[in-house]
Amino acid sequence: MNKQDIGSIKQLLSSPKNIVIVPHKNPDGDAIGSTLGLYHYLLKGNHNTTVLTPNDYPNFLKWIPGENTILKHDSQTKECEALIHEADILFTLDFNAFHRTGNMESVLAQSDAIKIMIDHHQAPDDYATYMFSDVSMSSTCEMIYHFIEMLGDTNLIDVNIATCLYTGIMTDTGSFRFLSTTSTTHRIIADLIEKGANNTEIHNNVYDTNSYNRIQLLGCALNNLKVIPNSRAAYITLSQDELNSYNYTKGDTEGVVNYGLSLEGVVLAAIFIEDKQEGIIKISLRSKGNFSVNEMSRAHFSGGGHTNAAGGRSTLSLQETVDKFISILPQYNNALNHE
Ligand code: 5GP
Ligand code: MN
Repeated sequence: MNKQDIGSIKQLLSSPKNIVIVPHKNPDGDAIGSTLGLYHYLLKGNHNTTVLTPNDYPNFLKWIPGENTILKHDSQTKECEALIHEADILFTLDFNAFHRTGNMESVLAQSDAIKIMIDHHQAPDDYATYMFSDVSMSSTCEMIYHFIEMLGDTNLIDVNIATCLYTGIMTDTGSFRFLSTTSTTHRIIADLIEKGANNTEIHNNVYDTNSYNRIQLLGCALNNLKVIPNSRAAYITLSQDELNSYNYTKGDTEGVVNYGLSLEGVVLAAIFIEDKQEGIIKISLRSKGNFSVNEMSRAHFSGGGHTNAAGGRSTLSLQETVDKFISILPQYNNALNHE
């Protein structure tokens, strides 16, 4: 995002506007943190601002300041679409292609609002009037901080904005340990704590509010963990029956894929989760070093994401999807064994 773009956006935001902010489907901590962080910032400019999510998000995010104002497109379709039609400005956060919003895709694509993309995923589509796209960024929340900084407004960051942005940086960096975590990330985190983000409380709210069922489901997932030593890979499966028997709710499988990656010597981890309602197997891929799960997912699993974290899906059965994964590994053995 160049100085000219920032100047134009500053001008645009200098008088109250109708603004809609949208994250990707199945929003995670970074998606909810960045949209609500921006929401609280825009309220200070007296804009009429609403966050619209394609669908619901996990309970462990249902404490973030402003969360109760979010409208969900799948259950509040009419209200959401009316707001999109009236919007002067549409911010799209933590994704870069409209299909990532599921059923919101066509209404967003048809909107004639000014579109501002803020995102850190690879290969952005070309829909935005103003595009702030940077794959080196740890999180969209870190980019929202930079965005506010470029607008010269870090003095406006209050406890609500700080709490939202801290949450997304924390969740997208695996609590500040992934490769994308830089000294700048830590400087921003330090500033957010100074502005009132309560790091212990945020960590507790997100990570220490497990249900008994969720931990039992984790036990089931760990029992299903398999290792393929030749490919330095590990994978976990969860069938719909297994999810049902532990009363699965949204978010219960978040982070489970990382247990595969925690095994010594493993550089590629996958989880395959059966979703009978959508008729798909939801896939999460994680890697260490330079091995790109983004490329693997784009090539084989209709998805994408980042070098070390990507998602995808398959319409094959759970067993067939696992078989496919195992069958494509040999072509990557060279790269996997040089990590
Ligand atoms: P997760 O495995 O947690 O669903 O996703 C890992 C990362 O990949 C997240 O940053 C997520 O936004 C991204 N991602 C997940 N699914 C897709 C997809 O279908 N396409 C793209 N481009 N990114 C995805
Ligand atoms: Mn993100």
